[in-house]
Amino acid sequence: MQVIPPAHGIPPVTDHAPPPARDGQDAWQKVRARLLAEVGQATFASWLAPLTLVDVDGDQVTLGVGTRFLRDWIASHYAHRITALWGEELSGIQNARIVIDAGLSAPGDGEPHAAGEPAPASRGSAPRARPLEGALTDLGSPLNGRFTFREFVVGETNELAHAAAQQVAGVDHLPFNPLYLYGGVGLGKTHLLHSIAWCIRGREPGRRVLYLSAERFMYQFVQAIRQKDTVAFKERFRSADVLLIDDIQFICDKESTQEEFLHTLNALVDHRSQVVVSGDRSPSRLDGMEERLRSRLAGGLAVDIHPASYELRLGILREKAAPLGIADAPPEVMEFLAREITSNVRELEMALNRIAAHAALLGGAITLQTTQAVLRDVLVAKERRITIEEIQRRVAAHYNIKPAELSSSRRAQAVVRPRHVAMYLAKQLTSRSLPEIGRKFGKRDHTTVMYAIRRIEELRPRDAALDEDVEFLWRSLEDPTG
Ligand code: ADP
Ligand code: MG
Repeated sequence: MQVIPPAHGIPPVTDHAPPPARDGQDAWQKVRARLLAEVGQATFASWLAPLTLVDVDGDQVTLGVGTRFLRDWIASHYAHRITALWGEELSGIQNARIVIDAGLSAPGDGEPHAAGEPAPASRGSAPRARPLEGALTDLGSPLNGRFTFREFVVGETNELAHAAAQQVAGVDHLPFNPLYLYGGVGLGKTHLLHSIAWCIRGREPGRRVLYLSAERFMYQFVQAIRQKDTVAFKERFRSADVLLIDDIQFICDKESTQEEFLHTLNALVDHRSQVVVSGDRSPSRLDGMEERLRSRLAGGLAVDIHPASYELRLGILREKAAPLGIADAPPEVMEFLAREITSNVRELEMALNRIAAHAALLGGAITLQTTQAVLRDVLVAKERRITIEEIQRRVAAHYNIKPAELSSSRRAQAVVRPRHVAMYLAKQLTSRSLPEIGRKFGKRDHTTVMYAIRRIEELRPRDAALDEDVEFLWRSLEDPTG
């Protein structure tokens, strides 16, 4: 697979390319179907569905996609697979290239422009009056000075969200609108939203960038109703060039606020103003949220942030140690923290703060022993929190079966999959050994548990629905308030 560098002057391909031959189209349908089966519905819809067949020529096929960001992402993550599938479906194909096809830009993506180049700086619609500038600042919440792209550490689990956020912050045409970022508590959603705001404000001080939580949006809306001032309310929000709404889950079950937010969202997107929303779960899981709003949120680009991997946790610790004056803490302390504190980045930061405070107040070197002592309560709480019984209860409820069925000898798929998930979570979230876990699942052998764990590990990257189930259960089990 060849990746076209972001060079200049690649003409939009749609106007000139002859329609690909019939067997090319047939093969493309098969390649698409196989990709869908391999990556799962959610990933396919977000990333691969926009691809179209542009041309088949000799041993090369050309696929087009509307934005450079998508082109780069698909090329770097699916290139091999797409080429291989093409080779299997249409003999002789050895190379699949992906180009930016300006004709495919999403609605609202701006005028056709030279591929790879941002659209002209004008954002399309007629300039709107700006009488409410002052009022607009009151609407929003202040930005945290620490929450910038520069301070955001990127790893496998958040690189997609980070890339999408940078894309939104860095170009004038709208690559996807709205952008919806979701993930559990303390994984960097607010940090990314603020980073987008800082970045745009820094580059274009004239742009009206508005950041606030959904809760605050609701509060202001309720106040506007009370003061019979909803027209002004609407106008203020709709005059934003960039609207960033944090923690949308707050307005689940709040019907009229949802209705109002949906109108705001639609108006802004129509005006080609960028909207970025964060939430704690995928759009389809936002219970108590109106269907129209859920599908609107899913309709731009929805990207999830996964819990940080060990490597990312370590990277973040190293990054944050310096400003706290404990950059010289021994590596085994950092590794210990990265291994033990897995739930979210905020807890990682809190642990580090505590160690720094302890060292500053009492002096003395930071060692593994002092660290363990300082964090004893955190570590003990973590150990106590999750039991296998609790995991079984949650998993059974999630899959709508009885907990006892997880320990039964039933082999029906409807029970086997949840059983594997529960065993996998038991291994990840408790310190029980494999034989101990096996015993709790109807006296099964430890090799059965091992098989279950391996099976889930294998399936997660390929089966988006399963991956989301596991992620969701993991998160809710770790949530101390849940
Ligand atoms: P969320 O909004 O998802 O609950 P936050 O954005 O508030 O999480 O992040 C919690 C804390 O963790 C913040 O202090 C933030 O700076 C930090 N943090 C999260 N992810 C990262 C990261 N990748 N790099 C650096 N700091 C991070
Ligand atoms: Mg937040």
